[in-house]
Amino acid sequence: MIDFKNVHKWYGAYHALDDVSGTVADGQVVVVCGPSGSGKSTLIRTVNALEPIQGGAVLVKGRDVHAKGSNLNALRAGIGFVFQQYNLFPHLSVLENIMLSPRKVGGMLRQEAETLARDLLGKVGLAHKADAMPASLSGGQQQRVAIARALAQRPPLILFDEPTSALDPEMVGEVLAVMKQLAGEGMTMAIVTHEMGFAREVADRIWFMDGGKVLEDADPRVFFESPSHPRARRFLADIL
Ligand code: ATP
Ligand code: MG
Repeated sequence: MIDFKNVHKWYGAYHALDDVSGTVADGQVVVVCGPSGSGKSTLIRTVNALEPIQGGAVLVKGRDVHAKGSNLNALRAGIGFVFQQYNLFPHLSVLENIMLSPRKVGGMLRQEAETLARDLLGKVGLAHKADAMPASLSGGQQQRVAIARALAQRPPLILFDEPTSALDPEMVGEVLAVMKQLAGEGMTMAIVTHEMGFAREVADRIWFMDGGKVLEDADPRVFFESPSHPRARRFLADIL
C-alpha cells in the first residue's frame, strides 16, 4: 500500500528524513515510534504530500505521490488522516462534519451522504451525537468523530499522528478501541503513537525512528522483548 524508497527530506540544512525505506503492506498496521524530533510526523506527512521530499520516492498503491502532475486534492481525499488536534468544523454539526467531504469532494447526494455518515457514527459509538455541535463533545468523542470523518471517503489507508496525545487520560482508551476495531477489519494504518500497550497488541510492525532514520522495523514481540538497536533499548527503558 505504501512504499518508502530511500526518502530524503531536508528542512533547509536540517536532514529530517535520512534514506528512509520501508513498506506498509495492504491491511497492515505499522506503528511509528521514537523520540521527539526523530522525524515521525514528517515521515507520515510525506505520504499524502503534505511535506515535499528532496530524494527518493513515496508510492501509494504503486503511484508516486510526489511526481510532477500528481493530483494532490484527489490523493489527499483518498487517504484518511487523523491528527492530534481533531480540527472539526465548529459551526457544523457532527453529522455535517462527516458528510462534508463525501458531498463536496465525492459529489455524493445529501441522502446518501447522510446514510453513510450515520453508519460511520454508529461504528465509532456516537450515533446519538449526530446533531450535536463539536464544542459540546468531550475530546475523546471529538476524536472519534474525526476518525468517522476520515473514513467517510472510504480510504484504503488511514494515517494517524498522535491521535490520543491531546486527550485526557480517561479518554485515550475509547479512541484506541475504535482504532483497534478498524485494524481488525483489515484497514491499512500507519500510526505515530506513544501508546506502547496499543502498539504491542495491535501493530503488525513497529518502526523505531531516531535522527531521521528508521533504525528498526520489527515484529512487536521482537521490538519490545529484544530491540536490536541500543537507541531503541534506551527509548523503551525511558517510556515503559
Ligand atoms: P514529536 O514526537 O515531537 O512530534 P517528530 O518525530 O514527529 O517529533 P518531526 O515533527 O517530524 O518530529 O520533526 C523532525 C525534525 O524536523 C525536528 O528536529 C523538527 O524540529 C524539524 N522540523 C519539523 N518541521 C519543520 C519545519 N517546518 N521547518 C524546520 N524544521 C522542521
Ligand atoms: Mg510529531
